[in-house]
Amino acid sequence: MSDVAKSQNELFKKAAVIGSGFGGLALAIRLQSAGIQTTILEGRDKPGGRAYYWEKDGFIFDGGPTVITDPDCLSQLWELTGNDMAKDIELMPVSPFYRLNWPDGTNFDYVNDPDELHANIAAIEPDDVEGYKKFLEYSGGLYEEGYVKLGTKAFLDFKSMIKAAPALMKYEAYRSVYAKVSSFVKNEKLREFLSFQSLLVGGNPMKTSAIYGLIHKLERLGGVWFAKGGTNMLVSAMVKHFERLGGVIRYEDPVTRIDTVGDRASGVTCKSGWSENFDAVASNADVMHSYRDLLGHKHRSSTVT
Ligand SMILES: Cc1cc2nc3c(=O)[nH]c(=O)nc-3n(C[C@H](O)[C@H](O)[C@H](O)COP(=O)(O)OP(=O)(O)OC[C@H]3O[C@@H](n4cnc5c(N)ncnc54)[C@H](O)[C@@H]3O)c2cc1C
Repeated sequence: MSDVAKSQNELFKKAAVIGSGFGGLALAIRLQSAGIQTTILEGRDKPGGRAYYWEKDGFIFDGGPTVITDPDCLSQLWELTGNDMAKDIELMPVSPFYRLNWPDGTNFDYVNDPDELHANIAAIEPDDVEGYKKFLEYSGGLYEEGYVKLGTKAFLDFKSMIKAAPALMKYEAYRSVYAKVSSFVKNEKLREFLSFQSLLVGGNPMKTSAIYGLIHKLERLGGVWFAKGGTNMLVSAMVKHFERLGGVIRYEDPVTRIDTVGDRASGVTCKSGWSENFDAVASNADVMHSYRDLLGHKHRSSTVT
């Protein structure tokens, strides 16, 4: 157990996590791995959040994500307690990463091998190979600033956001993904190839911040993976791992209120009337819902512990 985990463990013995999407499951596994008795509170009948799935006539239909771009983030959750993710779920590398098809019959294989990728780009627009190499460098810088450095920071106040501003300005994060990509390559199809990834997280490439251009570097570094049996199997594996560590999940009872004492979260109350005290409550539900509905009874504070 790390020193941070040890000191948290002395403060918190019992935690609640609202929501069993990937974010909630990952946090809950981390808390439970640190020896903090953790309960996940899920409003729906099944875990997964946006990775919810449906069953019909013996078939399973994944309703959301399919593409895994940072498998290390997942395997770390098992490594925390010396477990092996591969025993619970097999992640399969996907090659080509994507096959893009346009109505005029053009096909493009997005592969990880640099030579093959450059040849595929050249087949569409030879002049754009150099531009692509520059975009990859740009995407690498974004990845360092936006994913490695800022990805682990909590932006709880305006000051912490201001600190990140110079780096984001340097990479012109105020421009859209598509606008920034267009400054590197001129072919329309290649612009689409380098922009569409923001769709994976629900962002319109024409409007979403260029910071999402980092996904390209993430894919080139970590590859693109698919959970054998579908994303629902990854959700089941995370639940299995969490429960094996002693964690508890309550389904079909949405949290209606995060109870507070002074400035601290002290517990939760659910729709059924069930309520319990916790040393810490983390909400991985949507931010607006968490602050407006679950903490609506309370004068808005800047942090919730
Ligand atoms: C169609 C689609 C395709 C996608 N494809 C990809 C992809 O290929 N690759 C990729 O990386 N990402 C993809 N994404 C994005 C990815 O699915 C999400 O970023 C991720 O699943 C979000 O996880 P989360 O835990 O933050 O939130 P969510 O999955 O939204 O989980 C929130 C959970 O909180 C629960 N909840 C909310 N309020 C309460 C309450 N009051 N009480 C109790 N429970 C509550 C909800 O029921 C839900 O289970 C896709 C998204 C969609 C919709």
